[in-house]
Amino acid sequence: MREEGDYLIYDGRQCKLNTVPVDVLIIGGGVQGLVLLDELKRQGYSAALTTNSCLGSGQTLHSHGLLNSGYWIIRPELRKTLKEIVLPAAEEMGLQIYGEDQWFIVAPSSLSEKLCPGWKACGYEYEEVNIGSLPSGFQEGELRYRADSIRVFQINEYNYPKRQLIRLLSKGMDEHILYGDIVSFHCAPSEQNTLPENRERTITVDTVEIRLHDTGENVILTPKFIITAAGTGTKRLIRSLQAETSCIESLTASGADAGAWKQRMEEQLGKVKINKLHMICIKAPLGILPAASVVLFEYGLLIVAHVNQDHDDVQHDDRDYVTWYVTPVDPDQTSYDDAPDQAHAEVNKELTAAGINNLLRAYPALRQAAEKSDSLVRFTVFAGYKQDIGDQMGVPLCESLEGFDNVILTLPSVSINAWINAKNAISLISTRAKANEFTPILPFGGSGAKVGVVNELSDTVEWMRWKELLQAFPGIAQQGAARSLAE
Ligand SMILES: Cc1cc2nc3c(=O)[nH]c(=O)nc-3n(C[C@H](O)[C@H](O)[C@H](O)COP(=O)(O)OP(=O)(O)OC[C@H]3O[C@@H](n4cnc5c(N)ncnc54)[C@H](O)[C@@H]3O)c2cc1C
Repeated sequence: MREEGDYLIYDGRQCKLNTVPVDVLIIGGGVQGLVLLDELKRQGYSAALTTNSCLGSGQTLHSHGLLNSGYWIIRPELRKTLKEIVLPAAEEMGLQIYGEDQWFIVAPSSLSEKLCPGWKACGYEYEEVNIGSLPSGFQEGELRYRADSIRVFQINEYNYPKRQLIRLLSKGMDEHILYGDIVSFHCAPSEQNTLPENRERTITVDTVEIRLHDTGENVILTPKFIITAAGTGTKRLIRSLQAETSCIESLTASGADAGAWKQRMEEQLGKVKINKLHMICIKAPLGILPAASVVLFEYGLLIVAHVNQDHDDVQHDDRDYVTWYVTPVDPDQTSYDDAPDQAHAEVNKELTAAGINNLLRAYPALRQAAEKSDSLVRFTVFAGYKQDIGDQMGVPLCESLEGFDNVILTLPSVSINAWINAKNAISLISTRAKANEFTPILPFGGSGAKVGVVNELSDTVEWMRWKELLQAFPGIAQQGAARSLAE
């Protein structure tokens, strides 16, 4: 509810009214939102970003920290975006990427026969190596009995410190970032129906009201465009916009069929799938775990190795510890319609235990090192909701929201796509809005949106010794009980 003058009455409280016009309001402070903010700045648009949690603390800081260019899904657009846009951007901002010399895929021969032609056709670099090229711990596991039925490839993927990426992208942007909750949108019938690819667009969002977390004060933004970069919170955000009274009124005023419009919007949102990914984190001195990343197809495991503990300052003296981020494939994967904005999910104990059992079969040295009473090996497990588009992995979405003439949805599905989405979103905008100066210093910008803590290093996450891990996940096989191919 709004009053004229300097104050706003919301929820029975009197709040100071601060109205700021911007070219673009970005909603969501993960990698997608921050790449958009950076790109809009470069193009001279005035832009503000609002986020309801610390920067990065959705999927972005839950991730493996891999610039996934799609070796196991073969998506040449990802490889092209990596080479042409993301690696140069990483160099320019000083992002310390690493790991490309120690990345392997171990695949059954039958699958290799499909992967190799795909890699060749799409320009993925790879070299077939013998099993002896894998770190020695893998050669002591079951793989040694499978030399005839598997093939090993050295590939060219890159890992990155995820918190460092968020810190670098948000550097110097404090005054353009709001930390708060959207309390209302205001919509009006469109004056111009100009975006050419959708003739049925009828509504403009002209006002967004945000309550700041730190002060409780409200800021009102009047953006020309809104870009949602809300990750797993996207559906809830769009449905809350759809439910605004002014939205329904604007529709009715423009003579549109509200029921049909809602249905079209739900069909659009239906493309957004939310899946769950588990992450088994293992931290150990280098040597016990090699700084090598491996996809083990037959064990349904993705292992991404990191050499810096805080995912921020990569220094040589941190290289004495390695953390493995191990994701087991879930054979019963189900999609969810909704998930928390910050992507945090419940852990499935059976899936985790099965993943650890598979890992121990492929890399038995881990158990030996972890069991010792003075062992320095530590474990933690978490799960995160991951947004995808349709049934395929790595597909980005950047398109106008059904029924609106100034709202654009961006969903990257993997981090690399944040850059391509930013380019595409700006090209949608540029047909209608010329860039202003990148000026507005928001009255309450910099009001507390800090770079988030990497999920596994937050206070709520407990790192366990081996015995504690066994207690927490009773399905982990005791020594000798794991089924072995050698037997
Ligand atoms: C466990 C896991 C591992 C992954 N591993 C990889 C990997 O190794 N490589 C890779 O490329 N990709 C990986 N992904 C996917 C990748 O992390 C995501 O594609 C990417 O981080 C999405 O970025 P985003 O900015 O769109 O969303 P997010 O990082 O989820 O950010 C969205 C932000 O929007 C905010 N928000 C939501 N709703 C609102 C609202 N209403 N108002 C204000 N703010 C809002 C949230 O708080 C959040 O901060 C992984 C994902 C998961 C879950």
